Amino acid sequence: MQAVQIQQYGAADTLALVDVATPAPGPDDVVVRVHAAGVNRLDVLLRDGSVFQVPLPRIPGTDFAGEIVEAGANVDRRRIGERVFAAPILSCGHCEHCLRGEDNRCSHFGTVGSTIDGGYAQFVRVPSRNAVALPEALDYVRGASFALTYATAAAMLRRGRLAAGESVMILGANGGLGYAAVELASAMGARVIAIGRSADTDEALRRAGATAVVLAGPAMADEVRELTGGRGVDLVFEHVGAATFEQSVAALAMDGRLVLGGVTTGTMAPLDLKAVFTRRLEVLGCRGSGRRDLDHVLDLVARERVRPCIQQVLPLAQAAQAHRLLESGVTLGKIILTV
Ligand SMILES: [Zn+2]
Repeated sequence: MQAVQIQQYGAADTLALVDVATPAPGPDDVVVRVHAAGVNRLDVLLRDGSVFQVPLPRIPGTDFAGEIVEAGANVDRRRIGERVFAAPILSCGHCEHCLRGEDNRCSHFGTVGSTIDGGYAQFVRVPSRNAVALPEALDYVRGASFALTYATAAAMLRRGRLAAGESVMILGANGGLGYAAVELASAMGARVIAIGRSADTDEALRRAGATAVVLAGPAMADEVRELTGGRGVDLVFEHVGAATFEQSVAALAMDGRLVLGGVTTGTMAPLDLKAVFTRRLEVLGCRGSGRRDLDHVLDLVARERVRPCIQQVLPLAQAAQAHRLLESGVTLGKIILTV
């Protein structure tokens, strides 16, 4: 089968379109014929090796949608032919955390497309429980567009205890995760201040639910304070990391929370300890998402309560171009590869 592999860490053009053996299912697995694969920041971080390193070669692709073509010995054979999309998080499925739908706390945590091969391929093998029925209302492109970003955003907002009427500052709002957070937080009735990378995306972010849009930069904490009458925000939705962390802390109100779900620009940042204790701040980490978050966002997407924004659809062979577009930082919405 054809697949795109990360064979060495490097720039987008190191992604290689290769011929590899078609995977066969293990006893608890299914093999899915991929029709569409979503491109995520995680794929780029895996490819450049800057934050995560995995054994190479690896086929990236946490989000994909397609149809089940083979089922392992322990899997109900009636699933063959089922339209599915990928649940992004790998977990044991039976520990106390998994049983509560909080798979992201499982000690067997992993991610499709990094722990195991993902969807930048004609076929992909995943545990049966990671192939989730795709509602009729969603086509394959849409099915590959939301699971990782929307479920992660939902998990982070839940971890950050965002409530209706509160204010939230959302970093990287023109990226996939930030955009999802804008939509979800707005649907919850929060006041959303979106941090964008370019004035070109202001209008789209307002349509997605942002009350105000502030350009990323060294003045953003001051601007956010001004927008909140000097008070600061109740929650900062942070996944950019080193480049923005100081500004994020500075933008928090008394009793403010910062939820951190990623570190795209690096893992080390100074923390103003005086601000932490005098303003009674909380820094909350959040890894991935759980099944309850995925179920929640699938329901919202299927009912069109939120509408993942799809910017561009490219063939699998143009995966490198898709990564370059994402890395340019000024895109809005998802890039989907069709297979
Ligand atoms: Zn578990």
